[in-house]
Amino acid sequence: MASTKQRIRRLVDQLESAYGSPRFIPRFEPLEELISCILSQHTADANSFPTFTRLRERFPEWEQIASLTHHELADVIRKAGLANQKAKSIIAVLKEIKNRFGDYTLEPLREMKMEDARKWLLSLPGVGPKTAAIVLCFSFGMPAIPVDTHVFRVSWRLGLIDKKIGESKAHGALEAAVPEDLAFRFHTALIQHGRQTCKAPKPNCEQCVVRRGCRFYRDHWPSSSKKVNISA
Ligand code: SF4
Repeated sequence: MASTKQRIRRLVDQLESAYGSPRFIPRFEPLEELISCILSQHTADANSFPTFTRLRERFPEWEQIASLTHHELADVIRKAGLANQKAKSIIAVLKEIKNRFGDYTLEPLREMKMEDARKWLLSLPGVGPKTAAIVLCFSFGMPAIPVDTHVFRVSWRLGLIDKKIGESKAHGALEAAVPEDLAFRFHTALIQHGRQTCKAPKPNCEQCVVRRGCRFYRDHWPSSSKKVNISA
């Protein structure tokens, strides 16, 4: 019988055969990734990315952003939503980083073990497990698995985690289950699958390339072939 890690390796291969294989290319330097992530919380990338670009064009030095008042920064990032709360977090994060590292940089984290770097990031104001995992995975290439709504939904439907643990605890549960070398590919493959096939509220199981190993499919499409309502 295949181990969980073997099963996940096969799962990622199957999903990549359907959606393609991603190449790991860091999209931002680490501090940019962190601030971009804070801006993207509770909003669509389509709103937050242009806002982040505008912010950096207008204030290319982190010092300039850290020197703004909350109200001034909130005015610039208004289109990303929750502007007042995010402006406070961004200014507090920049000041805290300068205070701890003497500069506006996260490069010292590169030399840390992943769990130490994660704890460091989580100690910053407004930084939760998903934001920390994104910085670790996308900027430093560490085997952290950011768990967004797609990764969480597909993971519990497949039976890799228990739905009751919630998104926050799913980070640890998935990182324990997924082979380290697959973290980025697993994250990317599950997002593609969640967007295109295993959608909320209704998954398209009949078109799914991994349905044979899926707990949700097994539970809702019993071998008696009696079709049931699979909205979830
Ligand atoms: S079989 Fe259905 S529920 Fe399972 S992963 Fe595929 S689309 Fe999602």
